Amino acid sequence: MRSSLTAGIGITDSTQFVIFDMEWNQPFPGKQYSFDASNLKGEIIDIGAVKYRYENGGVSRISEFSATIRPRCYKKLHYHVKKVTHKCNEDLKTGVSFEEAINQFLDFCDSSCILVGWGTSDPDMLKTNLKFFGLDSELRRAFLDLQPIFSRFAGEKGKQRSVEYAVDYFKIPKDDTFHSALADAHYTALVFGELFEHNKTSELLSVITSSLVDPDIQLEFNYRGVEMPSVNEAIASASGFCAICPICSSNLKFSIPAFRIRKSVYSLSECVEHGDFFSRTRIKKLKDKAYFATAVLRYATQPDYYLIAEKAEEFAKYGSKGALIIPSTPDNVDLKPSSGEFTKENQQA
Ligand SMILES: [Zn+2]
Repeated sequence: MRSSLTAGIGITDSTQFVIFDMEWNQPFPGKQYSFDASNLKGEIIDIGAVKYRYENGGVSRISEFSATIRPRCYKKLHYHVKKVTHKCNEDLKTGVSFEEAINQFLDFCDSSCILVGWGTSDPDMLKTNLKFFGLDSELRRAFLDLQPIFSRFAGEKGKQRSVEYAVDYFKIPKDDTFHSALADAHYTALVFGELFEHNKTSELLSVITSSLVDPDIQLEFNYRGVEMPSVNEAIASASGFCAICPICSSNLKFSIPAFRIRKSVYSLSECVEHGDFFSRTRIKKLKDKAYFATAVLRYATQPDYYLIAEKAEEFAKYGSKGALIIPSTPDNVDLKPSSGEFTKENQQA
């Protein structure tokens, strides 16, 4: 029972999907603003969406939406955004207000539609902007992250691929430039359609329904441990965090008890009331032979079940050293001094 929003959703004929994408401008590092820029890491300047309807085992395109937004806070284009979106400063002087664009967008999204994106940054940024501008930040629609679903059906479980990679994978003709919101939504929608073309519908639908999340509830909880003299002590420091339901604080029941592969510890557990939780603890080494743990505990979705099944299989075969081919996890790259704080932040931090 993860959320009343996603619990009852089934995909039936006439279910609508709104595949959307957004572009946002960023603050300049070091620049002083009249507000706390950490509360607005990006200001949305472009929304694009394509609506699909499910029918008879396939999906078809119904309509599209696009809105250009005149930014209120970041009126000068950040160099990175300029490079990626091919926009110029003059472009930021045109468009409608964020409030107007969002009202139009929410009108476009039927109240029972399923929002679809590539990665979770778009719904996160949308909620951040709604909150920042004092608007109702509840989306009240289920969200589907298509990225792990593509990876799973492309036989690349656990890999994070770009939309462009998926477009090439399906040999979709590229006649539009990437990185305008509508073009990216359009390509993401084509990938969505291809998934239906190339896979068994029942299997795809089952993966989709079990991957739906409620974007209005906190899905992921994070922990950062204090400095410890050994790897085992660092792991132990996070074990309590991974054993308690972050919603109701009751003890989680482990369906897959914690096991370690290389620098990561995995587990799958259950709260009777709140459903399954996936956890991964990572051990990071500090320069002076000290270690600390970071852990994530989140509502388990289909990609998590695949990931832990795969890791458990690897563990059964090779033990904690893991298989010889080491997957590229960027460990030990961001070694900031550990502060020991216990953070319960939303993903959109
Ligand atoms: Zn609970």
